[in-house]
Amino acid sequence: MLHPVINPNKEGIPGAADQRAVRTVYQLHSALALDTVSHTGGFLYERALGRAWVDGEYLDTAYYPSTVTGVQPPTHTQAVEFNQEGFENLAISYGSNGTLQSVTDAFGNPVVYCAVGGATTGCDIRDDLLGAVYRSLAGGGFGQLRTSLNRSSDDFYTRIVNQGCEQAGIPPVVEVPFEFQQLKTATVAHEVAHGVAVRHVTTCGDLMYATADGVMSIYIPVPADYSTIDTQQILLH
Ligand SMILES: [Zn+2]
Repeated sequence: MLHPVINPNKEGIPGAADQRAVRTVYQLHSALALDTVSHTGGFLYERALGRAWVDGEYLDTAYYPSTVTGVQPPTHTQAVEFNQEGFENLAISYGSNGTLQSVTDAFGNPVVYCAVGGATTGCDIRDDLLGAVYRSLAGGGFGQLRTSLNRSSDDFYTRIVNQGCEQAGIPPVVEVPFEFQQLKTATVAHEVAHGVAVRHVTTCGDLMYATADGVMSIYIPVPADYSTIDTQQILLH
């Protein structure tokens, strides 16, 4: 649990305020995640690309919803994690040649694909129209991409996104490598903002937008900066 106060020497001095610090961690192996509603569990990277931990939470296990509520005072260090594994657990694009060359799992076995209306666990969804293979989400939104990237091919890690906000009828696409890279930057920026008590907003496409499940914007273009409603929240603290 994290409770350090920054600049403790300023404590108690009239008119002086403590400072907030955010510690960002590039996390190769993510923590466990437990959904207290559906009672399912998995690894944090199966659920989130990053996370801002709240004081009072244990760094070993992330609970959804969090068992600690409320905005934290601006006197504590907040921990932000970037889950690299999460970015390799969403989808793989067929690449520019339009052919999927990543067809085995981490053990070298052929990947099993989910049949329509069939099993949703232990299989990946192969979408030739979209040109991507992606993970199947089961119980509580957890899921692992079974397919292992063939690094000697032009296939690449990506995610499936909608083009713009609320534009019904426009089919989703895969993010190109540049956009996927932008997402990594945006993820850190999003979580760091949580670290200074910025909350989610309901404006689709905003850097701090999140779905009801707390998932970052699934739209392109990837937000490249904080919006006014984001920075106004920062100024409050
Ligand atoms: Zn968030």
